[in-house]
Amino acid sequence: DKEPVTILVTGAAGQIGYALVPMIARGMMLGPNQPVILHMLETEPGFEALKGVKMELIDAAFPLLKGVVATTDVVEACKDVNIAVMVAGIPRKEGMERKDVMSKNVSIYKAQASALEQHAAADCKVLVVANPANTNALILKEFAPSIPEKNITCLTRLDHNRALGQISEKLNVHVSDVKNVIIWGNHSSTQYPDVNHATVALSNGQKPVRELVADDYWLNNEFITTVQQRGGAIIKARKLSSALSAASAACDHIHDWVLGTPKGTWVSMGVYSDGSYGIQPGLIYSFPVTCDKGEWSIVEGLKIDELSREKLDKTAQELIEEKTLAYSCI
Ligand code: NDP
Repeated sequence: DKEPVTILVTGAAGQIGYALVPMIARGMMLGPNQPVILHMLETEPGFEALKGVKMELIDAAFPLLKGVVATTDVVEACKDVNIAVMVAGIPRKEGMERKDVMSKNVSIYKAQASALEQHAAADCKVLVVANPANTNALILKEFAPSIPEKNITCLTRLDHNRALGQISEKLNVHVSDVKNVIIWGNHSSTQYPDVNHATVALSNGQKPVRELVADDYWLNNEFITTVQQRGGAIIKARKLSSALSAASAACDHIHDWVLGTPKGTWVSMGVYSDGSYGIQPGLIYSFPVTCDKGEWSIVEGLKIDELSREKLDKTAQELIEEKTLAYSCI
């Protein structure tokens, strides 16, 4: 029997957490043969609800689930974790200043970074979901200097999947036949969903999305804004923010990172910039990546046209501003 992998989910009684933990326990994150132990962290006010989530996990009798810890103690939560999914955060509410939200998140991520650094497994992989996801990941990196920067990432896979979904709907093809869209930059409305390298598998081979859609106006305008504003559209419809799709994307992110991307396919991940595509080193920026043997690498050498260049830089600029704001809160 395989050794179980220990996975931390922070904010586990929240909306995304509640959707995510059963997916992990069913093998959607690490595959159907990998036993898991769940560590769930909550605040004091969230703890009663978390106890309920633990009861439900027990009641679901998941064969792969070898243990569940529900706690408000960040040290206990981080102990020996191999994978950390950071969902907990303070959302921006009406009337709150950006700086106030940032400063609350900085203090949460500082504390969690230190606990991970001291108590998690040495090769722990970290995925930050909570907004502002890229900048929270940067803070975490700053306060966990012994965790390799390659191990700290943020979620833009939901945006990536949304882009695949929009193309599949437009062309009336199955979503699994669409690939290689890219989300560049920040997980925010300045992100750039790019289809210039995306293809669809047809019976006569791979065809470029641009050629099949044959409507540059739609691709350069409505498609981009639909993906950028999808989160808002879901809040309007559901009166709650997206949760099942965010949880599913978090599983996809870790799944592909650990188990690899299929040959010829890339995915989008927020990762530490090494200066690729002229993006300032030291930002957590979403790039196209392939994964192999538990390591991601940025897909290099893609042609960037003028319109794209502008959009890549605009979202980088927003991240530079967020970084400055975050550092002023430390
Ligand atoms: P959600 O589970 O809906 O969201 C959690 C975080 O994920 C938010 O910051 C949210 O940002 C972010 N997020 C990123 N991508 C998406 C997306 N596509 N759709 C929706 N959200 C996204 O929030 P809840 O308030 O339900 O749950 C948060 C939980 O965290 C609470 O139970 C709270 O008690 C807990 N918490 C725990 C802490 C700890 O363990 N120390 C500290 C702070 C909170 P946004 O909605 O702003 O876009």
